[in-house]
Amino acid sequence: MLPVDSYRHQGLRRQLLKELEGMGVHDSRVLEAMNSVPRHFFMDLAFVEFAYENKAFQIGAGQTISQPYTVGFQTQLLNLSPGEKVLEIGTGSGYQTSVLSRMGVKVYSIERQKLLHDKSKMLLKELGIKANLVYGDGFKGLPGYAPFDKVLITCGAPHIPEALLEQLKIGGKMVIPLGAGDVQEMTEIVKLAPSEYGRKTHGAFSFVPMLTSRERRV
Ligand code: SAH
Repeated sequence: MLPVDSYRHQGLRRQLLKELEGMGVHDSRVLEAMNSVPRHFFMDLAFVEFAYENKAFQIGAGQTISQPYTVGFQTQLLNLSPGEKVLEIGTGSGYQTSVLSRMGVKVYSIERQKLLHDKSKMLLKELGIKANLVYGDGFKGLPGYAPFDKVLITCGAPHIPEALLEQLKIGGKMVIPLGAGDVQEMTEIVKLAPSEYGRKTHGAFSFVPMLTSRERRV
């Protein structure tokens, strides 16, 4: 059963969104989408008190739900228009997936950990949030559903996955935290022509690593 979204939670959420606005997440569509998704539904009941702090949090299987600022920042960078087709890598808790869905786009999201995939699939169904959740390897993308208007990577990528560049539409955009260590550089890549790309960077962020199916998390 879902927890309640009490007036207290709603108040804390509005306060958090004010904080994010002050930090540069000013796109009102992004703020509205985040306001419509109760973040505490995506965390274990024991940690509900922390859901509206601007912090990343453990969600099990050694993974984390991204910091709210990071979710807002990445979503804003994507510059989404309703109806666009978006590929997310790293479903995790399903929180970012839900925010994307609330922006009115068609979301495909890949997760490599079965436990997290199953859990978020159930939760999103319960919440009535539409998204296509896939258990698989994000490095490969979803060629059967390509091309995508936007690609969002929510784990630290050691390099730009070639398959994901191929699956991006001409004029489409990828937002990817790049770097193999503990800190990544938020990078925006625009596909200008079949093999021509524009690139901009947006400062340092910290994500759990993007791993291939052969790698084990250390
Ligand atoms: N968007 C998530 C953030 C989850 S953290 C949220 O809002 O909660 C990043 C996730 O990426 C983890 O769940 C991790 O298991 C997943 N991941 C790592 N490497 C991956 C890969 N190659 N393919 C798909 N998912 C991957």
